[in-house]
Amino acid sequence: MHYFTEKDGNLYAEEVLVEDIVKEYGTPLYIYSSRTLKRHFNAFDSAFYNIPHITCFSVKCNSNIHVLNLLKNEGAGADIVSGGELYRALRAEIDPQKIVFSGVGKQEHEIREALQANILMFNVESMEELQKINEIALSMGKIANISFRINPDVDPKTHPYISTGLKENKFGININDAIYAYKSAKELKGINPVGIDCHIGSQLTEIDPFLDALDKLKVLYAELKELGIHIKYLDLGGGLGIQYKEEEPPHPKEFGEALSKALMGYPLTLILEPGRVIAGNAGVLITRVIYTKETSNKNFLIVDAGMNDLIRPSLYNSYHRIAPVKNMGREIKKYDVVGPICESGDFLAKDRELPESRSGELLCVFSAGAYGFVMSSQYNSRPRAAEVMVTGDEFYLIRERESYRDLVYLEDSIPFRN
Ligand SMILES: *Cc1c(COP(=O)(O)O)cnc(C)c1O
Repeated sequence: MHYFTEKDGNLYAEEVLVEDIVKEYGTPLYIYSSRTLKRHFNAFDSAFYNIPHITCFSVKCNSNIHVLNLLKNEGAGADIVSGGELYRALRAEIDPQKIVFSGVGKQEHEIREALQANILMFNVESMEELQKINEIALSMGKIANISFRINPDVDPKTHPYISTGLKENKFGININDAIYAYKSAKELKGINPVGIDCHIGSQLTEIDPFLDALDKLKVLYAELKELGIHIKYLDLGGGLGIQYKEEEPPHPKEFGEALSKALMGYPLTLILEPGRVIAGNAGVLITRVIYTKETSNKNFLIVDAGMNDLIRPSLYNSYHRIAPVKNMGREIKKYDVVGPICESGDFLAKDRELPESRSGELLCVFSAGAYGFVMSSQYNSRPRAAEVMVTGDEFYLIRERESYRDLVYLEDSIPFRN
């Protein structure tokens, strides 16, 4: 459910005509709906109403500080994977006690920054990382709260690039080594093992893999209790899928009910790290057709948004619904919608049926609110797109369009040496 809707052939973002936003800010342009973000966050968060929980929005899927601040006002914490994301979360005024730090390669300075900020906990992914956090904590006179990210070896049945909970993945600690890990952690003066964490993948469209993982973690929880290691937090990561095309992911309510039921009676605070399910369908990418081109076997729409703006189709072959911003009711044609970048992998859609489009017209690429702008680059020296927030009948810029100056400003302060 989202608030990008067509009325009389015109696309609206909430109550604003998308064309009006483009008139002001140009293309390519990311547009987010605040009402959709709030709705998705609250649908998710309220699904866990009857158990203690913290909903830590996965900053990596959309890290604009205005998006983060809006979610923070709804009660969100943050799941971060870098010092940069910590910086953003703090700039967005997210409560450090609602921040968890995930990721396989946390660097020393990032660990120090997180300890300094007093975050809730680290999700530790290796024994070397554990030692490093211990050393740094001790040197700062602090004790770090940690979870181990357990790799439960369950198949999330999603795209291999976004599947993370199989034993061949680089993530987490093998569940068979978990007891040893917790025992070691307990011995360390700078470490307080308080949680169990897992994240099995992204864009999951079934609840069962989550429940399978949870069953394994519950066994571990009981074993740890026997050993006198008292776990207070259970972090089940993110990963709930959304509808891009014809997927039928469970509603967050169903997800919340299943997990709450499975955890009934456990004296635990559940931590959740949803990303895509909150932001994915709360954002769109608007692009303009630069040229149309017909070859003997293909019709191309060459648009001004490329793989540098939205890489998901190129990277995962993923589907994004595309529709004209102004539907003229023309006949349907089959198109490849491609960007201007010098790569054959630069496409937004292939063999897509769309109403006939002409140069200068606008297209809307849906479901671009998660893993959209955050994965954009300046490849081909293309300044990154602007981002706009819509709320009711108003809209405002939340990130300016980059300029040519932005492309070189970290270079042109350095004199030529040739
Ligand atoms: C990517 C990621 C998430 C968010 O995943 P979504 O599929 O966007 O919900 C949560 N936790 C961790 C550790 C991640 O790497």
